[in-house]
Amino acid sequence: MEIIELTDKKRDELLKRSELDDADVAGIVGDIINDVRNRGDEALKHYTEKFDKVKLEDLRVESSSINKKNFNIEDKVLNALKKASKNIKKFHKAQIPEEWSIEVDEGINAGQIIRPLDSVGCYIPGGRAIYPSTILMTVIPAKMAGVKRVICCTPPQPDGTVSDIILAAASIAGINEIYMVGGAQAVAAMAYGTETIPKVDKIVGPGNVFVTAAKKMVYGAVDIDFPAGPSEVLIIADETANPEYVALDMMAQAEHDPNAASVLVTDSMETAEAVNAEIQEKIGSMERSEIITESLQKYGRIVLTESIEEAVDFSNDYGPEHLIITTENPEKQLESITNAGSIFLGQLTPVAAGDYGSGTNHVLPTSGCARMYSGLSTESFIKKPTVQRLSEKGVLSLKDVIIDLAEYEGLYAHAESFKKRLDHGKEQERLK
Ligand code: NAD
Repeated sequence: MEIIELTDKKRDELLKRSELDDADVAGIVGDIINDVRNRGDEALKHYTEKFDKVKLEDLRVESSSINKKNFNIEDKVLNALKKASKNIKKFHKAQIPEEWSIEVDEGINAGQIIRPLDSVGCYIPGGRAIYPSTILMTVIPAKMAGVKRVICCTPPQPDGTVSDIILAAASIAGINEIYMVGGAQAVAAMAYGTETIPKVDKIVGPGNVFVTAAKKMVYGAVDIDFPAGPSEVLIIADETANPEYVALDMMAQAEHDPNAASVLVTDSMETAEAVNAEIQEKIGSMERSEIITESLQKYGRIVLTESIEEAVDFSNDYGPEHLIITTENPEKQLESITNAGSIFLGQLTPVAAGDYGSGTNHVLPTSGCARMYSGLSTESFIKKPTVQRLSEKGVLSLKDVIIDLAEYEGLYAHAESFKKRLDHGKEQERLK
């Protein structure tokens, strides 16, 4: 792999990585969305036959196949799902925010209450791979938040079913409403509703370019989480990093997708060369060697900086989905990190830990969106209405604020609504 220095041109190239070009698919995705709005289930069946090559009579998975006792998967995999779900539940429970209220000024109490969304749709990708872990990562936080209706959409397998491991994950996560529909048509169905699939309040979950473009297009009719496209990792390493671990972390990210991005930023030429050598040595024997090779060629880079501080600055500009800091004292660099989806500290903490089992969420913003979004969390499924109550004293103390500002803005009914309370307040004070 190329070891490069951070010139302005290289910097711009790296920051761009595999930005999805929504314009390329906007036409087809827009047509699919309109068709689903017009023809409902009929359109869903049409696109499922066209893109997934399956003719379906019924889009919903029988709940008896989710609520069953025995799934056709190995015990060790089932146990892994259960253990992962325990950690994910514990972590996401800790994210439930508290309600609060303060006295803003004498007689003015204001605070925030916590309410879950009513309904949520989770998109579970199913084109190139099967993602039972994504069921856990989307459904569990929604359940922890208290969402009443959580549904999932996922593309059917070629035989017109959903794999048992997805069903087992759904059962562990505690849902029984799964629809066999993928791509932009699934997003449209959850955004607008069809005869079979209910309209939801928010759509979450990762997906390919069609899914991501559709989520952006239906935003407004429903809420969405954020663009979660091809995966990426940025690794900040110094001379103490273990080159074999760094090489494996880069290849682990690259195996997701030919458009995934793996970038090492180091102030040590020795580390840069050793990681490069490890990759060259291992890449040919990796299971998904072809995808890894294509991804590393397109978006994999080893960047040499003059200092670790420069590496941190670059990382903040990049806003990676996953950030690994493997330096002598990673907590020190953490203090200066401003943009990252999920952060992995020290040489014993690979991204795979957060992908499956440490409890943190793996649905994370990509393409620099970590600059303005956090990853999926329990809070993603929660609304925080504000609440206020004025006493007579509160009304009196606000009179100079409300009436003057409302009249200045020409909103005389606003001013009048307050004056009435003021008169009432004065009367109450007089009677005391
Ligand atoms: P997918 O389920 O997202 O897409 C499959 C669907 O795409 C099909 O059902 C079909 O409806 C639609 N489609 C395929 N070709 C089409 C065409 N020509 N026109 C219109 N629609 C078409 O599954 P995938 O393709 O495997 O993509 C999954 C993506 O999710 C990968 O990029 C992966 O890296 C990403 N991912 C991201 C995260 C994250 O948290 N960021 C996690 C897991 C997966």
